[in-house]
Amino acid sequence: MAIPDSLQAVKTRIAAACVAAGRPPEAVQLLVVSKTFPAAAVREAFDAGARAFGENYVQEGLAKIEELGDLRSQMQWHLIGPLQSNKTKPVAERFDWVHSVDRLKVAQRLSEQRPAGLAPLNICLQINISAEASKSGLLPADAAALAHQVAALPGLSLRGLMAVPEPGPGALAQHQAMAALWARLQAEGLPLDTLSLGMSADLEDAIAAGSTMVRVGSAIFGAR
Ligand SMILES: *Cc1c(COP(=O)(O)O)cnc(C)c1O
Repeated sequence: MAIPDSLQAVKTRIAAACVAAGRPPEAVQLLVVSKTFPAAAVREAFDAGARAFGENYVQEGLAKIEELGDLRSQMQWHLIGPLQSNKTKPVAERFDWVHSVDRLKVAQRLSEQRPAGLAPLNICLQINISAEASKSGLLPADAAALAHQVAALPGLSLRGLMAVPEPGPGALAQHQAMAALWARLQAEGLPLDTLSLGMSADLEDAIAAGSTMVRVGSAIFGAR
């Protein structure tokens, strides 16, 4: 399928999932995940109306931001992959969002390195909701403490939580656990408006649970 058609098909899935969940369609934003696909494919998605793009790898993302510099003011770039503390500077300078913060040190560096002339960098904390040893993200029990610390950093704007639930029969329960954690932090006074949850295979479960931003790659660009 051509990119404009698959983009439309994903928007239709999101709208149907919102209807099924009794939520307004504008409650869920689409983040187009362009990792491994060339800048030309991103431009095609942009021409078809997409504005928010997610990248996993810092160098690859920076190269695409540069190559698509003519569109920069109309696009949002989100880093959704792991971030080492020695790579924070170009991310603080060039990206709009980071979804994968799971340590105070990384958050502090991003805050210090965010240029004064730019709006604060939007942050989601990545939660290891399946609590698997192999997965990145912080454990749910540690989320509140880090959220309060990140919320206090001047160069950052804490927006919410992100997770990659483990596929399978337990997936919906993990999506629901994320939504419950998000609501708990809101109840503690943190002004969170983003629950970054759901990918090509599980966006319906995520939207049913309360996701406000789905991150979709292969359903738009094809298999990687
Ligand atoms: C690759 C990736 C996605 C998109 O996955 P698809 O299955 O291609 O939709 C979303 N979130 C993260 C963190 C990813 O690494």
